[in-house]
Amino acid sequence: MRNDGQRTMSNDRRYVLEHVLLPQGWAQEVLVAVAPDGMITGLHAAETTAPGAPPTATAPPFERLPGFVVPGMSNAHSHAFQRGMVGHTEYRRSARDSFWSWREAMYALANRIAPEELELIATQLFIEMLKAGYTAVAEFHYLHRRPDGALYGAPDALWQAIERAAERTGIALTLLPTLYQTSDFGGKPLRAEQARFYLETEPFVAAIAARRSAEGTSPARLKRTGAAFHSLRAVPPEALQAATRALRALEAALPIHIHIAEQMKEVEACLASTGRRPIEQLLDLGLVDAHWCLVHATHATPAEIVGIARSEAIVCVSITTEANLGDGFFDAARFLDAGGRLCIGSDSQASVSPAEELRWLEYQARLRKRRRAVLADRSAPHVGERLWSAAAEHGAAALGQPAGRLEVGRRADWLVLERAHPALAGARPADALDHLVFGGDGARAIREVWVAGRRIVADHRHALEGEIAPQFAALMEQARIAGAD
Ligand code: ZN
Repeated sequence: MRNDGQRTMSNDRRYVLEHVLLPQGWAQEVLVAVAPDGMITGLHAAETTAPGAPPTATAPPFERLPGFVVPGMSNAHSHAFQRGMVGHTEYRRSARDSFWSWREAMYALANRIAPEELELIATQLFIEMLKAGYTAVAEFHYLHRRPDGALYGAPDALWQAIERAAERTGIALTLLPTLYQTSDFGGKPLRAEQARFYLETEPFVAAIAARRSAEGTSPARLKRTGAAFHSLRAVPPEALQAATRALRALEAALPIHIHIAEQMKEVEACLASTGRRPIEQLLDLGLVDAHWCLVHATHATPAEIVGIARSEAIVCVSITTEANLGDGFFDAARFLDAGGRLCIGSDSQASVSPAEELRWLEYQARLRKRRRAVLADRSAPHVGERLWSAAAEHGAAALGQPAGRLEVGRRADWLVLERAHPALAGARPADALDHLVFGGDGARAIREVWVAGRRIVADHRHALEGEIAPQFAALMEQARIAGAD
């Protein structure tokens, strides 16, 4: 049991966790103390405070949480507005439907959404994320302007819409304002339908600096700012270098995310324009470090996979979106073997379930290799537990948030899985996460979701779900929003 650095105070709340997954493995009857700011201040074996025993001077009041407690998951890649098009593009328009034809529908939606509509869509989405076990989200946000290209002013109304949705629902947020300047390699100007995305480099950095100075010093960091570059095709190398230098001067550990090598057409265009592949070119700039998150990296060569692992950058795989868009396979097995740090994201919101994301990460590897339990290894033989633990820890790192592991000095973000749920029936602690990830109904066993020591989902329900769902449905009934072309 870790006891180092414990600073348990009298106003901390105390819980006894029946079974809990700690960094060193499963433990039973653990007393955890959570400070009013949401940080874990103590973890103790609870033998001296028998479950259900009346409080005494030496055994302060506590609440017992029966079930399996596991770290909450970070969703390292989300475009909230795309929740509005889920299910609307799953029909054939031509024999050549692809990512690029889907993108036209996505642009059409992006150009219809007003700030209050974005807030409602994001509120519904964040409720869905929380119920599925995501306790934090990185919003990769490139909607900046009015549809006519004019600025909303500062602060940006669309950024605020995302923030309000996060505050209302209780999910921790890392907002990643995204630089987007060109439509393709070689500095090609934006197309008319991309006008909402444009930002100049200096105002982009200045807006991030202003947000950071307004963030305050709470260790819980429930609201955090990072930055993103949309892609190498959308940000010329000079702008990427200048912005990175300025962002690193603001904060050495600022999370920086970028879409990379998602599509072969993008790899080919990069090769034609620069003579190098996108990941190769990005790594050669010498900017990538442990605080970068490379989103997709689908078409990485074996040498690039080793290069990313060596850089310590995190790769975010959004497999349900990559499958939905027909992107291709990321070689997760090779990346994990190289010591790579992997996390997950819901991206286009085709699925908003960390269990499903991790299940398909493993299934993709099984289908390719015609073996089972591919993404396990000798030290971590349980696939579900290995993938959940890794994605929770590296996802929190990608968000720059103090979560992802249940230990002193991190935020009290956890899920309580219901042992008696049919999806978990018969599960032991060692295979509880295998049940969650590989049972078709596994996520329904999530009884409670806690963020910063607050019970946000109780008895499988979020307090706002009854109010928001009909409003969201009414919005989606409006053809103006839902009618993807
Ligand atoms: Zn994306």
